[in-house]
Amino acid sequence: MRVLVIGGAGYIGSHCVRLLKENGHEPVVLDNLVYGHRTAVAEDIPFHNGDLGDKAFVEELLAEERIDLVMHFAAYAYVGESVTDPLKYYENNLAAPIRLLAAMRAAGVKRFVFSSTCATYGIPDTMPITEDLPQRPINPYGQTKLDFENCLKACANAYGLSFASFRYFNAAGAAEDGCIGEDHDPETHLIPLAIWAAQGKIPELTVFGDDYDTPDGTCLRDYIHVDDLARAHIAVFPKLDEPGAHFFYNLGTGKPASVLEVIRTVEEVSGLKVPHSIGPRRAGDPPALYADSSKAQKELSWTPRHMVLKDLIETAWRWHRDHPDGFAS
Ligand code: UDP
Repeated sequence: MRVLVIGGAGYIGSHCVRLLKENGHEPVVLDNLVYGHRTAVAEDIPFHNGDLGDKAFVEELLAEERIDLVMHFAAYAYVGESVTDPLKYYENNLAAPIRLLAAMRAAGVKRFVFSSTCATYGIPDTMPITEDLPQRPINPYGQTKLDFENCLKACANAYGLSFASFRYFNAAGAAEDGCIGEDHDPETHLIPLAIWAAQGKIPELTVFGDDYDTPDGTCLRDYIHVDDLARAHIAVFPKLDEPGAHFFYNLGTGKPASVLEVIRTVEEVSGLKVPHSIGPRRAGDPPALYADSSKAQKELSWTPRHMVLKDLIETAWRWHRDHPDGFAS
């Protein structure tokens, strides 16, 4: 399968590109390098620098590269920024990908894989989260992802687009061989920041609240290895052969970990202290989010391989230890 990976120079996209290649597919990357890193993509992979919302350009690219399927990872994902600058999110995460779908339609490309998020569920009434729970996002980031899911559904019904939408929990970790990993600027995620604190790159980590109704008072999240996410994206391909077929899957381990557990595990793995202090809650943080991913496990014969937090953090630690300045190292 010739696969256009939009956002293929980003964190999850670049891991997916490598896995596609390993599995005998032919990835082609489209990335505007606003957040992505050119060196995250191997030299021998076709690379195009451009915008997914440029319909004429994408339409031509799809035809020229003879693309069979499009994967779209190129969203903005800073929740706080989506609240203060919603138009940026509605443009990049909704309007631009709608133009992408128009380009696909014009070029006759009918298979699509979308990076969605557990943020579409908002603060669910029950846990773990199954796909059929109501989706009530509490910020523009989650809302734009949900709006785009709905747009995809309409396109499946009207034009026979087949698609899978994966609702990720907390993507984490790095490639086993240490070649690529997480390099965000700005970095806001817990695991890299805890590692940076251990390395002395930041003075300390602030724990956002320890007065939640959880076993140790800190928030519970479901950390899933980035390669496990990537494997699900490829496992779904055979299901997309039928025009109009569409699927929604939660991707998580189903095993929640608290902020303090993550800190302790980084200390154990690195052999270093993680200086930290307790701060106020971060606005919009649900106390607990973890997945029931049995639907993906059953229908895609997929199981996460990194079920143990320590194993996952070990891959992240190795990447940060060997690349103290990320891809610039
Ligand atoms: N968190 C924290 N300090 C930080 C960053 C994150 O305590 O500097 C907490 C955050 O409140 C949440 C968890 O770590 O409970 C995971 O946050 P992250 O931003 O990594 O992912 P999110 O769950 O927001 O997608």
